[in-house]
Amino acid sequence: MDLQKTSSRPTGSRTLRGIPLSPGYGVGPARIYRTVSFALSSEAEMPGPSRDESPETAVMRFRKALAASREQLLQLQAQSTATLGQEKAAVFAAQNLMLDDPMLSGGVEELLHKGTSPEDAVVLKTREIKTLFESLPDPYLRERAADVEDVGRRIFRNLLGVGTLDLEDVGEPVILVAEDLTPSDTAALSSKTVAGILTERGGPTSHTAIIAKALEIPAVSGIGNLSDLIEEGLPVALDGERGDVVLAPSAEETARFAALREKRLHTARQLATLRDLPAITLDGVEIGLWGNIAKPEGTEKVLSYGGTGVGLFRTEFLYMSGDTPPGEEEQLAAYVKALEGMKGMPTVIRTLDAGGDKEVPSLRGILGDKPEMNPFLGYRALRICLDEKDLFRTQLRALLRAAPSGDLRIMFPMVAGLEDLRSARKALDQARSELEAEGIAVPPVKVGIMIEIPAAAAMAPLLAAEADFFSVGTNDLTQYTLAADRMNARVTRWYDSFHPGVLQLLRLTAEGAGKRNIELGMCGEMAGDLDAIPLLLGLGFQELSMTPSQIPWAKRLVRTLSIEVCRDIAGKALSFGTAAEVRTYLQERRAALTANFADE
Ligand code: PEP
Ligand code: MG
Repeated sequence: MDLQKTSSRPTGSRTLRGIPLSPGYGVGPARIYRTVSFALSSEAEMPGPSRDESPETAVMRFRKALAASREQLLQLQAQSTATLGQEKAAVFAAQNLMLDDPMLSGGVEELLHKGTSPEDAVVLKTREIKTLFESLPDPYLRERAADVEDVGRRIFRNLLGVGTLDLEDVGEPVILVAEDLTPSDTAALSSKTVAGILTERGGPTSHTAIIAKALEIPAVSGIGNLSDLIEEGLPVALDGERGDVVLAPSAEETARFAALREKRLHTARQLATLRDLPAITLDGVEIGLWGNIAKPEGTEKVLSYGGTGVGLFRTEFLYMSGDTPPGEEEQLAAYVKALEGMKGMPTVIRTLDAGGDKEVPSLRGILGDKPEMNPFLGYRALRICLDEKDLFRTQLRALLRAAPSGDLRIMFPMVAGLEDLRSARKALDQARSELEAEGIAVPPVKVGIMIEIPAAAAMAPLLAAEADFFSVGTNDLTQYTLAADRMNARVTRWYDSFHPGVLQLLRLTAEGAGKRNIELGMCGEMAGDLDAIPLLLGLGFQELSMTPSQIPWAKRLVRTLSIEVCRDIAGKALSFGTAAEVRTYLQERRAALTANFADE
């Protein structure tokens, strides 16, 4: 992922309307970002601009890129000493030394004199030196091969005039502008360096949006041709509530955004006072307001916002760094950390849900790197795990071993019917028997499933007979019911969790759970939608799991509702024929119920 400079220079302020992905207000200079493949021009899918340059010009361009790389590494070294510690800083120092290595710079210049382009020369020399390091007997030196590659890529990006995703060098928080960001790219960001995210692609329930919310970074998508509209450094103001984006905002507009942000922060501070109060309705029903997390440290946020459980730990994020999937011990440590972090409160850990928009590089060895025709309808989640027995076994063993550390609940994603549930349970039973044979005692663990495939909702009564709990994944359930890709900003209009067809499936799921008296929760984005909450309580949902920062808003609402009123709202909402009518009705009811909340 790299920065891209464009030549068009917009003048004056301009407002665009996009799709809101993550709430909040952000203002900052644009940081433009794109993927470039570190490959020879003859191999690259998108070759860089071809230049006709003399060897002298090529040498000058290379030296300039080298100097820029040196400058960036020095900055990273200085900043990371304070923020990331000596060890990380030492890596940048070592990389800086590599820039001076005659094998690299001398080797590249030699190729330039023979007429090779600087980009190709850097790729060739990097590969050559990396192979050399990889063949060394000393394991420490072998590991330096990755640094060689990092250095090569840095020079390459500087040659193309694009930067990196290392945002440690930014002076002030930036608005990250990209055609698209992967969930793992987004997970690596921080609200300290990123004031907002603006992408061309991505729907409101894309994993990029979900992660942006978890990180509390405002985000907007769905604006085309960003690279023609925005140049590096252009001031941008972004409204993640409405989806407005102001390019080159005037002083008044900037002040308006700052005021809106301050107002939001003020409300959040007020809501913080609710933290230790129960999420209880006026008629005394306690609702579980739980948090969704992607890494064990996420539990801290759940607790700090007053959540009383984790309704979804998306474990696939553990698989996104590194070249191989995490082993049993590494996973065990992560699950124990999450369970201990929750101090005995319910913690639902979902088994690997790779695929769809979540590309997991460490699984390339297993899955190959041929893209799927329809990734969301393809080889994903449980489907992979049921085939890849060792991969699944490792995760199940780690989960069961972690069970004594808290109230673990294991959840299987993408269950289409009884066959999937039974096969997954069988694998879990096998893992348990294996551990017991090894003398490792495992306490009883609740086993539940996500209801996110319409077929599963339709057969909820049968599934409820064999599962301990349901958690509805409305992000997928909506896209599968309405045949509208959750990633595709162009079909966002058709993607609506308030569609009567989706509501009927929620009703069926609730009825199925009710017949068997199993726990009914929701962990899709709809669970945190304040307009939806009265409807969901009316349908019988007992646990709502959401992005942690949304919990206080949900709590304030729950404490003003009664289940009786909610049932009435649900009954009425189910009578409408269009999503628009459902939405208008739910908005009106909420407005009436919360008329005394000054800020909503
Ligand atoms: C869902 O589909 O609603 C869900 C919670 O899972 P994910 O968003 O990870 O697909
Ligand atoms: Mg899902």
